Amino acid sequence: MKYFTTADGSAVGRIGQGTWYLGENPAIRDDECAALQAGMEAGMNLLDTAEMYGEGAAETLVGQAIRGRDREKLFLVSKVYPFNAGRQSIFTSCENSLRRMKTDYLDLYLLHWRGRVPLAETVECMEELKAQGKIRAWGVSNLDTDDMQELFAVPRGQNCAANQVLYHLGSRGIEYDLLPLMRRQGVPVMAYCPLAQAGRLRRGLLSSPAVRQIAQNHGVSPTQVLLAFVLAHNGVLPIPRSGQAHHTLQNAAAADIRLTESELAALDRAFPAPAYKTPLDIV
Ligand code: NDP
Repeated sequence: MKYFTTADGSAVGRIGQGTWYLGENPAIRDDECAALQAGMEAGMNLLDTAEMYGEGAAETLVGQAIRGRDREKLFLVSKVYPFNAGRQSIFTSCENSLRRMKTDYLDLYLLHWRGRVPLAETVECMEELKAQGKIRAWGVSNLDTDDMQELFAVPRGQNCAANQVLYHLGSRGIEYDLLPLMRRQGVPVMAYCPLAQAGRLRRGLLSSPAVRQIAQNHGVSPTQVLLAFVLAHNGVLPIPRSGQAHHTLQNAAAADIRLTESELAALDRAFPAPAYKTPLDIV
């Protein structure tokens, strides 16, 4: 499975950093900036943001966090609102994101979710942004299997470089048919909410005996087990978010955890993937 590479050809870390809700509160902004920087130092050079997050506040924080760093060793992802993803607004949206992030290109620009603009129009505009050097690649987010099939069928739709969807141990619906489709097409999945928002999205996840036992086996935290679970799935890159450097460093360290077959089987028993099609989970 091919993952992303940065502009200078360096590898992108197997775990990225999310930024939803970051940059919105001036009182903790410096700590959040330090957390992103600690993550980059620890190898998490992919930063995921969106024009939606704090209406630009998260992108501005990313701009602050990357100041003085070698841009070509970073992989910056942002997203356009569905209602801005047509010819009339996407070019301005992209410029605004670049300005807030204080950079002159994005490594990956995603359609945040599907709206009313035809996919073919969004793809055409994304390809123009690529030709202009404003973005290196484009992708989508929150598209289920049927939407992806439609996308792959539009002109140059096959150039889609990622689909970012909700995926964590407690929500495994994509394993049924979306993840297999993405693998067949060779397009990586970015797993959002890989920590189930610190367990809030699935009651009992972090306190589950299976998760706690495996955490104990490896001397790690339950959240690190959740990240190791996502990493055990080929073609999936988790993007946990933290505003605290000690959490960010824990998240980065999860890249080194290898779950055994019997540990994965125990997680399967505790949180089985559905054996039938379920609608794509979203937040
Ligand atoms: P996550 O699953 O990443 O969980 C974030 C929560 O986990 C925060 O409360 C954070 O708190 C806590 N946390 C982080 N690391 C640790 C740790 N090591 N130990 C304990 N708690 C921890 O949720 P998100 O919703 O943020 O998803 C991740 C990213 O995915 C987003 O930030 C965003 O970039 C992207 N996303 C994309 C969506 C889309 O539609 N495309 C939708 C939702 C998210 P603390 O800050 O205190 O560490």
